[in-house]
Amino acid sequence: MPDADTLTFVLNHAFEVGTVRAGRGGPVLDYDGYYDGEWLGEGSVYDVAVPDSLGPVASLCVAYSGAVPVFDGHPVPDDWKGRIVANHGTLRATEQSKWYPIVRDRKSGALSTQVSYDITVDCADCRQLYINGSAPAAGPSARFTSDVPRALLLFAGDFSVTRTAGLEFVGGAIDERAAAVFRDQLDATTSGFERFLGIEYEGSPVFLTFLSIAKRRTPGRSSWAFVSWPTVAFDGAIDFGSLVETAADGTALLPLWLRRTLGHELAHYYFGTVLRPTGPLFWFYVESMAEYMSLRRMAVAESDSVFADNVRELRDGALRAGPVSPLSRIEQASQIGDSYRYQLAPLWLLSLEERAGEAAMGRLLGTVLTAPAERQRDWPFFLDAAAAAGIPDTVLSEWVAKCVEAPITDNCIAEVGASRFRGGAR
Ligand SMILES: [Zn+2]
Repeated sequence: MPDADTLTFVLNHAFEVGTVRAGRGGPVLDYDGYYDGEWLGEGSVYDVAVPDSLGPVASLCVAYSGAVPVFDGHPVPDDWKGRIVANHGTLRATEQSKWYPIVRDRKSGALSTQVSYDITVDCADCRQLYINGSAPAAGPSARFTSDVPRALLLFAGDFSVTRTAGLEFVGGAIDERAAAVFRDQLDATTSGFERFLGIEYEGSPVFLTFLSIAKRRTPGRSSWAFVSWPTVAFDGAIDFGSLVETAADGTALLPLWLRRTLGHELAHYYFGTVLRPTGPLFWFYVESMAEYMSLRRMAVAESDSVFADNVRELRDGALRAGPVSPLSRIEQASQIGDSYRYQLAPLWLLSLEERAGEAAMGRLLGTVLTAPAERQRDWPFFLDAAAAAGIPDTVLSEWVAKCVEAPITDNCIAEVGASRFRGGAR
């Protein structure tokens, strides 16, 4: 807890705050934020006054309660990672929803989303309970603890839990043979990442599947995934086992869409978990870098034509989305929209790799991940990290001019990937 006369936390709009104390059973503290206050994503921002007489406060105890509607099968316009959803006998809430009070550093704006925990979940109607970073437990009540800080994802209700091939599958059926295919894909992907970044992968993911309430999502099919490490969550309430395909040579493998999705989602262990940036370039450092990692994975592991399709899809999307502000002039995170973060910027990173080489790119991203947390991940930081990775000034400035600052209609994305399609270096 910062040593300050005002402490700040963020909590989902669905909740109302009651009493705030300086620690469990401690003195009651005044707070503000409930009337015409500041919003931050899905949460309201609360400022807690700490009187001088109290000295530094080690912890806050926030009493709050609230409710969300139960969706009864009528789809709604949208669903996203930060939405708290009760539907079809389950309750889902991730750290993005801020279902637990999240301390915000007043100076840097950083959110303490990942926390060690000791949580008891009571849910009379729940057959299974799950909190990220712990094994699922049988309902209706269970206590979960973790010394390792985790982004808290809560999933509770009526769903299956399968442990096999050293992996955990929550909400979707799978047998041992299919689980081994997941395991192989996982190992191949993460060992490639480790070699590239020089940073070891920690732990093993939990694969979870849930039903989305969004109109555009289809039960039984997954078209959306997100990560709250170590949970990799897919919409669709899919049957994990039925996804495994057989190649022409008889090998069992995951379908292409899932191989690609896993490349992206598993990269979020690094970009989004090891690194939790703040500031206007948040989406660049989290989503564009994860998608770039996925693209690299496709280049290494898939055929040239599959990789070429992947690049073309991103390029066409970026061109359709039209002009953007260069990364050097982004002032608010919202300026980096979906196409910018998932399509355009990942291609720029791939273009930088083609100019600077794989080893330099690995060093650059390694620095992005390991530089001190207080160093803001902004545009000057990226340029410094590139220089420190040994990318010559001339290469970097040419890349900035032809990619980052060039008009979308005359941009390096037109050429990116070309060397690979001609059978060039991988
Ligand atoms: Zn992502």
